[in-house]
Amino acid sequence: MTVTLNPPYPVTPIDPSEHGTNNGEDHRCICGEQQEPFLVADRSGRLVDVRGGTTQLPGLSPWPTKPEVLVIHGNCGRVYDDIDLARTDGISPILARIDITTPAWDAAVAMYYAAAEAGARVLHGEED
Ligand SMILES: [Zn+2]
Repeated sequence: MTVTLNPPYPVTPIDPSEHGTNNGEDHRCICGEQQEPFLVADRSGRLVDVRGGTTQLPGLSPWPTKPEVLVIHGNCGRVYDDIDLARTDGISPILARIDITTPAWDAAVAMYYAAAEAGARVLHGEED
C-alpha cells in the first residue's frame, strides 16, 4: 500500500530503497540506532498525548480511537506504520522522515515527554 504522508513537522527526503526491519516482535530502524525511542503519532503524523483522555497538551493530538498509529523513531525522525511493525516478513516501509533538527520538532517532542511524565505521575498516584 502506498501512503502519502505529510506530517505537521518539517521533513527531509527519504530514500525509497530504505526500510526498517522487524521479526514481528522487535523493530529496528534503518538508522541502526537502538530500538527506542519510538514516539507514537496519529495517522497524520502528529505526536499524540500519551495520557489519553479528552484534553491534550498544546500541539499534541488526542490518543487515536482506532488502534492504528504511526511511530516515529526519535533518533532519526523516520516514520513507520505501527501495523507494519507487527508484520513478520522483515520489512517496515518508511512513510516519511521528520527533520529532527528543527525547533518545531524539538517543541513537539518536549510536549510529548511532558505528557508522558504527567501520565506516569497519574498512573502512580503521585499527583503534584
Ligand atoms: Zn532511526
